[in-house]
Amino acid sequence: MAFSKLDLSHSVLEGVKAMGYVEPTPIQLRAIPLILAGQDVIGSAQTGTGKTAAFALPILSKLGTHEKTPRVLVLEPTRELAAQVETAIRDLARFTNLRVAVIFGGVGYGRQHEALRSGVDILVATPGRLLDHLQQGTCTLDGVNYLVLDEADRMLDMGFMPDVRRIVERCPRTRHTSLFSATVPPEIESLIKWAMKAPQTIEIGVRRSPASTVKHVLYPVAEDQKTDLLRELLERVNYDSVIVFCRTKNRADRIGNMLKKNNHAVAILHSNRTQREREQALRGFRDGRYEVLVATDIASRGLDVANVSHVINFDVPQHPEDYVHRIGRTGRAEATGDAFTLVVAEDAQHVQAIERFVSQKIERVKLENFNYKYTALFEEGKPGQTPLADRKTRGVRLSGGYYFGPVRRRKR
Ligand code: AMP
Repeated sequence: MAFSKLDLSHSVLEGVKAMGYVEPTPIQLRAIPLILAGQDVIGSAQTGTGKTAAFALPILSKLGTHEKTPRVLVLEPTRELAAQVETAIRDLARFTNLRVAVIFGGVGYGRQHEALRSGVDILVATPGRLLDHLQQGTCTLDGVNYLVLDEADRMLDMGFMPDVRRIVERCPRTRHTSLFSATVPPEIESLIKWAMKAPQTIEIGVRRSPASTVKHVLYPVAEDQKTDLLRELLERVNYDSVIVFCRTKNRADRIGNMLKKNNHAVAILHSNRTQREREQALRGFRDGRYEVLVATDIASRGLDVANVSHVINFDVPQHPEDYVHRIGRTGRAEATGDAFTLVVAEDAQHVQAIERFVSQKIERVKLENFNYKYTALFEEGKPGQTPLADRKTRGVRLSGGYYFGPVRRRKR
């Protein structure tokens, strides 16, 4: 099925062509006709499925030409996501005369005031700063026809629900509302009931699983060898770009600095960094100036960093959903990727929860010729115990039920 069959406007189709999209993704195929028909839509597809274009293309088609007041509001949980979604919309709208602006905190008001004064059609915003503008009277939502609540579960996690509700109240009741969320906890259910009219739900198959192109493995290791193992993995893995996820900002700083000392080009991304540092880190990583991005979970949801070849969880995520989000950084669109997770004894419960959540056993592997200290984790999978995941496809058989990892020598 081609985009041209979808009743999108001519200039939007030109934008699609310029982006190099050939065929709509499943969520686009399902969401575009519904949004064009004026339906409220709930999308539970993961990031990386093309959901931005799924809402942006029909909305842009409906807008027609430039007017003075915002007619579209897209709410995003983080500044990075807001910036990314604004860029995507701007790209898709490049053959229209529609104007897009992004509004988020951590930067001055000057440019945002200027953009709002000069008149925008589409506002992409984080809740806090948008409320500031509403209170200052520098922005109005009276003309909003299309409201998009993106990454709603993330906004909930970040404590934005009261702000989101206040913003929704400022939009006209006659608007159309779309909501995207990887999970739908009760608070989101109630937001849906309150803010949406007879919404249609689109679930794109893999709600609970990481992208099927990602090959994921666990590396059991003793706690005090985690850093050595990470260093060794990065030496041996033939990667293009890798994101290393850490549990805390301190750990991200520590690991990032350690890798810098080991001559890796490293950027660090977490919420204690200034806006400028965060943007610079992301831009540099996207442009290939940094080969490693060390991040906390701030980077795990929705960020569109193309061609991440490897995700390494230095720490096992505490929530199974975060595993899926983190792994979602790789395997985007048609790219394939590997996801490694370092596991220590205390992680056993979290690993079980992840395996239940993704409904599969994740393969345990050992790195060849790495001087492992003993950990009880190595007992798992020995003959007579729980069988390991399908091992046929990767690795070399070892005694004790272990396989040498799916790493390749690094080309440098
Ligand atoms: P998203 O899920 O919106 O973050 O999109 C993930 C990535 O897929 C982005 O890099 C998009 O530019 C890309 N993308 C979106 N739609 C398509 C499509 N129909 N064909 C190819 N790539 C797409």
